Amino acid sequence: MTCDYIQLATPGVQGLTPYVPGKPVEELERELGIANIIKLASNENPLGPSPKALAAITQHLNELTRYPDGNGYRLKQALSRHLGVSAEEITLGNGSNDILDLLARAYLTPESEAVYAQYAFAVYPISVQAVGARHQVAPARDYGHDLAAMRERINDHTRLVFIANPNNPTGTWLTQDALEAFVSDMPERVLVVIDEAYAEYVEAPGYASMLPLLQRFPNVVITRTFSKAYGLAALRVGYSVSHPDVANVLNRVRNPFNVDIFALAAAEAVLNDHDYLQRSLACNRAGLAQLADGFSALGLPYIPSVANFISVQLGPDAGEIYQALLHKGVIVRPLAGYAMPEHLRVTVGTEAENARCLQALQDILAERRAQ
Ligand SMILES: *Cc1c(COP(=O)(O)O)cnc(C)c1O
Repeated sequence: MTCDYIQLATPGVQGLTPYVPGKPVEELERELGIANIIKLASNENPLGPSPKALAAITQHLNELTRYPDGNGYRLKQALSRHLGVSAEEITLGNGSNDILDLLARAYLTPESEAVYAQYAFAVYPISVQAVGARHQVAPARDYGHDLAAMRERINDHTRLVFIANPNNPTGTWLTQDALEAFVSDMPERVLVVIDEAYAEYVEAPGYASMLPLLQRFPNVVITRTFSKAYGLAALRVGYSVSHPDVANVLNRVRNPFNVDIFALAAAEAVLNDHDYLQRSLACNRAGLAQLADGFSALGLPYIPSVANFISVQLGPDAGEIYQALLHKGVIVRPLAGYAMPEHLRVTVGTEAENARCLQALQDILAERRAQ
């Protein structure tokens, strides 16, 4: 081979490392030959899909040969009613991840910059570096976003700011007041992307979506997903709400059929399944408390979380404990890739799954003490 195809990639891409997803159940089955595995590694909904979403998918099976509605008319109408915004403000994405990429592709160049926080969602650096743009990483405070530090990194080159509220993998969150002050102080040419992937779960006082502030702040872009509280991670469907001109721009660069027929139908159906959403939130509320109490009982510090996961601090042996959990059939998420090597992130599961994870952790810690 005379060509180095790695060296031929753009400089930004050469600097990337691939996103590491939670280990799939089937992979662990293959590797260890064990059964009865639980996966609490990808912030997935533990309840299984909404029956209404399943019924909607079934109704569209015969359309497999057809391209989907590239404009997602029906889902946009449903979202428009649900959110109280106009359809022109909505952009549908192949997961909200798609929207993050579209924003980077549409607004960043190698001469411009994006700002995000230390410990912020791992997709931001990937989206930014893939288009060759520069990034400024603001140090975190108590694992959460330090808005003052982020503000300091805004300069004439800045085009995008990414803020996950709540943030993954830390579960930390910002009040609407704090974000309002941050956005008020932002030049209008800087788009502030508020990633609300976990917004449905949050019950903390002072927390609220930025949606009501969109009219006042045309540079705010809100992203949401059907992957978490709505339980449709496999289908890949999310959306943004923004100024119509921003939506217009994203519409120019997106893949023409970026959301498939089943995703469109299931998302529309689950949006009206209030019972499913309420069950998701109740399960999560109880599960967060169960995990937090369990970690406390084991004397393990954790980062207080308002999302559907919680990151627990296990010290320098976290990597070994992760492996030991795998051998007991419990998949969680190591955070070494986030430069948090002492933490493991545990997704809230069903009551039984949370109990099994806590028991496995207790057994592993006892075994290690006995050695
Ligand atoms: C899970 C997650 C998303 C959503 O990803 P999808 O592509 O919509 O599945 C977005 N942002 C954050 C912070 C997440 O954790």
